[in-house]
Amino acid sequence: MVLADVHGRPLRNLRLSVTDKCNLRCAYCMPEENYVWLPKGDILSFDEIAQIVDAFVAAGVDKVRLTGGEPLLRRDLPYLIAHLAAKPGIRDLALTTNGVLLAELAKALRAAGLRRLTVSLDTLRADRFVSIARRNDLHHVLSGIDAAQAAGFQNTKLDTVVMRGVNDDEIFDLLDYARDVRAELRFIEYMDVGGATRWTRDKVVSRAELLQRIATRHGPITAIPALDADAKSAPAERFALSDGTVFGIVASTTAPFCGACDRSRLTADGSWYLCLYAKLGIDLKTPLRVGESTDQLRARIERVWTARTDRGAEQRLALHDERGALLGDEDLRRDPRLEMHTRGG
Ligand code: SAM
Ligand code: SF4
Ligand code: SF4
Repeated sequence: MVLADVHGRPLRNLRLSVTDKCNLRCAYCMPEENYVWLPKGDILSFDEIAQIVDAFVAAGVDKVRLTGGEPLLRRDLPYLIAHLAAKPGIRDLALTTNGVLLAELAKALRAAGLRRLTVSLDTLRADRFVSIARRNDLHHVLSGIDAAQAAGFQNTKLDTVVMRGVNDDEIFDLLDYARDVRAELRFIEYMDVGGATRWTRDKVVSRAELLQRIATRHGPITAIPALDADAKSAPAERFALSDGTVFGIVASTTAPFCGACDRSRLTADGSWYLCLYAKLGIDLKTPLRVGESTDQLRARIERVWTARTDRGAEQRLALHDERGALLGDEDLRRDPRLEMHTRGG
């Protein structure tokens, strides 16, 4: 029987943050240079992660995405991937990375059993990369994307957060680049989530505007219908240009998809968030560390999920003109789990 929340949404998709640390400082995700990191002793070990994942799988999860912070900073990550890839209950194992360490690790990730990769790429200009991410690493990211292809990753996704006046003049260059490296570009609407303390409505380039700008340049755009259950619950809507180029748009800000949301997030210290906008998480580390069995954890997860009512992005949309940044720097220092980089995007 499928476990459903109050709105009938199944629990299927777990985003698993393996570290809150990051080697970039994207201003839309991490507002300041100095952070309160999660205490080291609180970070779940691989064995602990594996037990929690078993409990989630027993409760219905069959898709797991590793994220962070920057997941490739987690030491021995291929070892965890091999362990998760061997679990029959996980039908789809993926990873989201900023790509900085991908050239070094692509082969090992592939050999460990990873099949799906998303690389975040907001610009193709080195100087702009520095102003967005506050580190000079574009060349590493681009060679990482090449290395992923050489290692055998196919259908790689490239995620671009589009921000007006920051990188929205690159949408065509990014589409060309993605086509050249045989990856699928996905434009992500800029979201007013935890770390985005500088978010304003006018910086959001909406799905509607993106489609209109792309159509003006490339001609008619065909929407690709979502046919199976996976596509229906996926955040990205997919489109094709007349030359066959396929791209996606994740319209989380202007056209939220909370009604079909089967996702939840586990931080690297074992706090479980039922929504990207949730202010409080459910502590799974403590019961795990006091010795709860996988079955007890499963029962705990099921109790929480069946009472889930979250529709964060829809509530944000309903604020209309009053919508601004969700949190300030002070809030984020008080609780680092409110940050996007801690809960994994
Ligand atoms: N460090 C990895 C990376 O950047 O791919 C994984 C973690 S990161 C938090 C996951 C995703 O969240 C990235 O694609 C990033 O662009 C996205 N993200 C962070 N802040 C965002 C915001 N304010 N609006 C939209 N997407 C955001
Ligand atoms: Fe950028 Fe990802 Fe790091 Fe956030 S977690 S600062 S999006 S690289
Ligand atoms: Fe799901 Fe919350 Fe995002 Fe809505 S805002 S799609 S409920 S995570």
